[in-house]
Amino acid sequence: MEAASAEEQEKRGYVNIPERILDNISLETIKVLKVLSKEASMKPRHQNGVPIKYDKPKSSDNIKPNEEFLVYIRVYEPFKSHPSSFKHKINIPILKLNSIISILGCQTLYQLRQKIMCQSDLSITTEISENPYQKPGPMAKNGYKSGFFYIEDTFYNDLSEPSNIDYSNIIMEWAAARDIGPFKVATMDAQINSLCTKFGFPWVYQHQGCCEHLIVLTDARLLTIDDVLVSSAYPRIEKIRPISGKNCIYCGMFNVHWIVTEHDRIPHDISYFCNRCFISYNYVDGKKVGNFKAYSYPCIPELMSVMKRPKQSE
Ligand SMILES: [Zn+2]
Ligand SMILES: [Zn+2]
Repeated sequence: MEAASAEEQEKRGYVNIPERILDNISLETIKVLKVLSKEASMKPRHQNGVPIKYDKPKSSDNIKPNEEFLVYIRVYEPFKSHPSSFKHKINIPILKLNSIISILGCQTLYQLRQKIMCQSDLSITTEISENPYQKPGPMAKNGYKSGFFYIEDTFYNDLSEPSNIDYSNIIMEWAAARDIGPFKVATMDAQINSLCTKFGFPWVYQHQGCCEHLIVLTDARLLTIDDVLVSSAYPRIEKIRPISGKNCIYCGMFNVHWIVTEHDRIPHDISYFCNRCFISYNYVDGKKVGNFKAYSYPCIPELMSVMKRPKQSE
């Protein structure tokens, strides 16, 4: 519960925990958040005499009402679709809303991307069954940063990192061979107000290789005095679908911390363990028993306390 709620809080952009709650609750994640926010407040202002830029609201950031506009974008969860030749008729994908994001006209698609929360970005692909006491590895979003938006006839690629892959290339090659197109290519630095697009029409956001979301621009309006008139408050998650936490399939009580695969003493291929059951079933005196692969369950590593290695018996 702790991890899920902290994750949810972060998704919604809430970072300040009321003091009243901090005094009364001793949740581990709240303690870690407290340390993180303290560290953030102690960040150095200069490095080698050069001021460091942090993303903080500036007083000069204020927007004048009725001069800038907001666009609302619905982002849907990825879904599996089957070709129409598929035998069963249950192949109509069910669309589930992931979130609604509001963004200013002067902001970029890259900024929009930063606000799209998807579980495939959080997955941790480092196999650590030999040393489960180490800190969880980096999340997929820190390792694989490529992605694109497809809007109207243009692929807007994320080329913010030199190592990013241009996903649009292979699609355009495929399309050219079938006489589909032509398409244009741009980068995610494109501003929202530069888009010439239809509202209510589904476009695509793709990341982590094949994680594909539909996105729909639903509404645009001028900011009024009733809105938050600070540009750094946008893009903003207006609505988000809560993700329910999974429980350990063995005790059924604690939250999942481990995904285990290819286990030679478990009949199914993928199983979900809490910390306690994972250690007690798979390790004797800290040594791995049998063959299996173990991955940390998607989480925010900074908020997870590292497991303490138990004292080995002599
Ligand atoms: Zn995704
Ligand atoms: Zn358990």
